[in-house]
Amino acid sequence: MIEVLRIGQRLVRDDRVTTHVALVSRAFGASRIYMNEVNPEIKETIYKVNKTWGGKFKIEFIEDWRKLLKSKKKESVKIVHLTMYGEGINHIQKKLADEKEILIVVGAEKVPREVYDYADYNVAVGNQPHSEISALAIVLDRIQQGRQFDVKYDNARLEIIPSEKGKNVRDKSD
Ligand code: SAM
Repeated sequence: MIEVLRIGQRLVRDDRVTTHVALVSRAFGASRIYMNEVNPEIKETIYKVNKTWGGKFKIEFIEDWRKLLKSKKKESVKIVHLTMYGEGINHIQKKLADEKEILIVVGAEKVPREVYDYADYNVAVGNQPHSEISALAIVLDRIQQGRQFDVKYDNARLEIIPSEKGKNVRDKSD
């Protein structure tokens, strides 16, 4: 079971990035994302995606991410904080893949020092600054080794039939 926590966002400027963090979490196999300081419309956007393309991905707005991290630690969920200052993903991916329950933490702006201490793993996807969207996608893929792309949802309205050329989509409500 993998969940994601996104801490903070730069108001307005980050709306689209936040939506993409949620879309990647959903499409790459996480079951839930916790967020603070976000535009509440994101829930509607992502639940519309669920309705069309299936799954049960959840968005939960939280007031206090410290409280969440504390309670997850009590439940023995492993905290994986993505930061360019952490240990390299190539070295740590096997350990992460063996963990049963994981909460992946990504930042928007400067992440408070204490998150580094809460984390069981501080993980870098390369030691260059880039983006929470790309870091999250790569870590979710390394943990699940592509298995997330084989999942099919019973409750999807639309289903893509992969094709070499063009778009082939089955509408299951027809
Ligand atoms: N300057 C901020 C800091 O020092 O915390 C980082 C801002 S960055 C745009 C937003 C988030 O992207 C970070 O909090 C981290 O989760 C993720 N990120 C960016 N580069 C990364 C990297 N090389 N490895 C892992 N995560 C990264």
